Amino acid sequence: MAGDPRLPSVDRDGPEARLASVRASIADAARSAGRSVDEITLVVVTKYHPASLVRELAALGVTDVGENRHQEAQAKAAELADLDLTWHFVGQLQSKKARQVRRYADVVQSLDRDSVVDAFAPTESEPEPRVIDGFVQVNLTDDPGRGGVQPDAVEAMVERVLRTGTVRLRGVMAVAPLDEEPRRAFARLRGISARVAAIAPGATDISAGMSGDHAEAIAEGATHLRIGTAITGNRPAAP
Ligand SMILES: *Cc1c(COP(=O)(O)O)cnc(C)c1O
Repeated sequence: MAGDPRLPSVDRDGPEARLASVRASIADAARSAGRSVDEITLVVVTKYHPASLVRELAALGVTDVGENRHQEAQAKAAELADLDLTWHFVGQLQSKKARQVRRYADVVQSLDRDSVVDAFAPTESEPEPRVIDGFVQVNLTDDPGRGGVQPDAVEAMVERVLRTGTVRLRGVMAVAPLDEEPRRAFARLRGISARVAAIAPGATDISAGMSGDHAEAIAEGATHLRIGTAITGNRPAAP
């Protein structure tokens, strides 16, 4: 089929075209912000989608994927173990599951509770666990029920993560509130990131920006974007 000029080589509505369009949009936003795309990691959030789509994305050059439910993530990571993917866990985590997530996830972006962080510490049965990367999730909304640590509790959480000795702290992660201009919220996150970097040198990464607000996140210094539907298409209903 390739080479026949009458036939489109790329399905305009498929993942390949959507990925290309998101990559172009990231490059545009980086250029406007005077930043290099090389400092921005695209994590494609593939939750609810089958492993076959993740495989397709990997063939298109995707290296980092995000999942938000333990059982689903575990099954996909096992099925795709032949691929050299970096798995990011971006969902709410229970302390009971934390040690299982560590077996396949390379990065946990949703550290937001003492019990979850403590679950990553070495135990008698696992004295030298696998070291993973972590982000402290920050709640940028006024609703304490949403995921993430309150901004004034971030330093304490950072200290706690550093104490585990088994989580390499990379920085902060957040989701923009629905009722606020995202750029304003991401500017707040950037300020919090500077506070974190002051007590945890090297923990300078900022995970922010989804399908609808990645340009704003890039303008405010995001180093990790978590983009789902703009690349995968609409999510199927929860399985
Ligand atoms: C689902 C999800 C995303 C991706 O959202 P889209 O709007 O589909 O890009 C990003 N971050 C987290 C934490 C998510 O759960």
